[in-house]
Amino acid sequence: MSIGILGGGQLGYMLALAGYPLGLRFRFLDPSPEAPVGRIAPRVTGDYTDRAALEKFAHGLEVVTYEFENVPVDAVQHLAKKVAVFPPPGALETAQDRLKEKQLFEKLGIGTTEFASVPVAYDIDVAIKKVGLPAVVKTRRMGYDGKGQWILRTAEDVKAAKEGLPKQPCIAEKFVSFTRELSVIAVRGKTGETAFYPLVENHHRNGILRLSLAPAPRVTPEIQKAAEEAARKVLEGLKYVGVLAIEFFECEGVLLANEMAPRVHNSGHWTIEGAVTSQFENHLRAICGLPLGSTMAIGSSAMINLIGELPESAQVLAIPSAHLHLYGKEPRPGRKLGHVTLRAPSFDHLTNRFASLPAFFQRPDFCLDGASRKSKPPFA
Ligand code: AMP
Repeated sequence: MSIGILGGGQLGYMLALAGYPLGLRFRFLDPSPEAPVGRIAPRVTGDYTDRAALEKFAHGLEVVTYEFENVPVDAVQHLAKKVAVFPPPGALETAQDRLKEKQLFEKLGIGTTEFASVPVAYDIDVAIKKVGLPAVVKTRRMGYDGKGQWILRTAEDVKAAKEGLPKQPCIAEKFVSFTRELSVIAVRGKTGETAFYPLVENHHRNGILRLSLAPAPRVTPEIQKAAEEAARKVLEGLKYVGVLAIEFFECEGVLLANEMAPRVHNSGHWTIEGAVTSQFENHLRAICGLPLGSTMAIGSSAMINLIGELPESAQVLAIPSAHLHLYGKEPRPGRKLGHVTLRAPSFDHLTNRFASLPAFFQRPDFCLDGASRKSKPPFA
């Protein structure tokens, strides 16, 4: 089966690596001639809006998917006239707009942060009246890894935001004093079959994911069930096919959905070694109409993102149960270059292994957010 993937970054790269053992073939479309998938699969280099590039890419494909959330919906709808596209374009459209995303959560009865639309910066005080201070203002579109976000704490900040916010539609959210951040990776097949991985605990720094712990420690069956129910509502509401990620804030035992990603997700990378079937394989199984694989975790995993610079490979590989993934990207500050998954038979073993990681992983820039939160440090 020939699968086309829009976007040639590390997520596409790991999808292809998971698909080759199943006999699947891949072709990518990416605007950059340096896209990581160039090492392992044929690729069309062209803009997503370039109709000739889209034709060349789509020729002979049986199914198209995407690994990049900001692919223009127009391009996906154009492709959908010729070839099956999963997840459905409507899911992409919703996930690209924070307002539509929050409205979907609300419509489906999924708890989310209080929010208000800010069509133009001038309306900011009306929105702040609704959500209160402190608040987080986010651009509705194109924000990721904490980009396009501002925290407003005082009336002065609100006044300044009137002038200072970008000239594009935004959303204001109540600042949530959460205990921790959790995410669920869910998958739905073509027959409507669903499966859910155990919740993952995520630690960010400067808006970028640094560390995921899976299964998240201290998760009650009720919280796991609440996450699965929320994901099921989105999967069924959107007639979804493929892997979906939802990120939550946990507040005093209650989950608030923050955002969703209609694709494989960074907080699911641990599943490559830490689950019976990886999120990448399950996404492919779903879009190809194959039975889904078990989402059961094997022991406990910690997934550490390698951001901006890389450790010596030999140093990482000397750690028992460490798995190194390098994406083949040139180091640049803030860039996700790879990840390491550390596996252990239990969370206690994982805690011990984490404490004995080499110096590269013990530096202050690997320290994790938490000081401003009520959360415990990851291995407390
Ligand atoms: P996002 O791009 O929405 O995933 O936001 C990036 C990070 O900013 C999140 O992972 C949180 O750590 C933080 N954040 C986003 N929205 C809020 C909020 N309403 N209240 C508190 N922190 C937030």
